[in-house]
Amino acid sequence: LASREAHPESSVIDVSGVKIGGGNLGMIAGPCSVEDRDRMMRIAESVCKSGANVFRGGAYKPRTSPYAFQGLGEKGLQILREVGDRFGVPVVTEVTDPRNVELVAQYADMLQVGARNMQNFVLLTEVGKSRRPVLLKRGMSATIADLLMSAEYILSEGNSNVVLCERGVKGFDPSTRNLFDVAAVPVVQGLTHLPIIVDPSHATGRPDLIPPCALAGLAAGADGVHIEVHDCPEEAKSDGPQALLPEQYEQISHQMRLMADLL
Ligand code: PEP
Ligand code: MN
Repeated sequence: LASREAHPESSVIDVSGVKIGGGNLGMIAGPCSVEDRDRMMRIAESVCKSGANVFRGGAYKPRTSPYAFQGLGEKGLQILREVGDRFGVPVVTEVTDPRNVELVAQYADMLQVGARNMQNFVLLTEVGKSRRPVLLKRGMSATIADLLMSAEYILSEGNSNVVLCERGVKGFDPSTRNLFDVAAVPVVQGLTHLPIIVDPSHATGRPDLIPPCALAGLAAGADGVHIEVHDCPEEAKSDGPQALLPEQYEQISHQMRLMADLL
């Protein structure tokens, strides 16, 4: 179902009115975690003004340590929904547990399956039963073939609205958080009709590397860019060190538009 051979035409995924794929760019931005309401409103106002067309924030966080901030849960989903409604922008948030798919789908316009859960087949089956579009991130040690098979799990349950995301794979060099696999973009596009976006935030883990990798992703043909933004990275509940400031997002957003116009 995912293969380009079976469906030569590129799919366009509709996220509550925002189209991703087939020349439509998904510009996803927002903080790693959903935090307090006022802060979310401030960040959303700024990134939407800069050109983001989907707002993100995690209410359920998959953390390496059980003692790290785990997310606000349903309270976070409520805040995210409120923000989306206020600014008229669809919202995407991660679902980490198959038992929460229905709950998350009540609040979010798009369900994110994170890198750590790319091969959680029970979760994939559950989001496949949902009618919400899915943002499926590549696992940190997953091959492109693995990623496409995970998409197949979702499609085979009847949900054809899947957007793939290259977010970096495990490398050997601690200079960057992960290794940004920009070649994955055209490789994936050759193999599947599904859109693929890039996430230079998790791929590099470094604010200074996000702009060049965002532009490289678009130059490689990506159908969108996912970037984490926070107005006070030192206070962020997760992934603060890799967050762009709203004014930095405004700048790269402008450059991304110029790049997209060139292509
Ligand atoms: C995230 O989007 O905040 C996240 C946890 O991403 P990933 O699953 O790619 O690590
Ligand atoms: Mn994050």
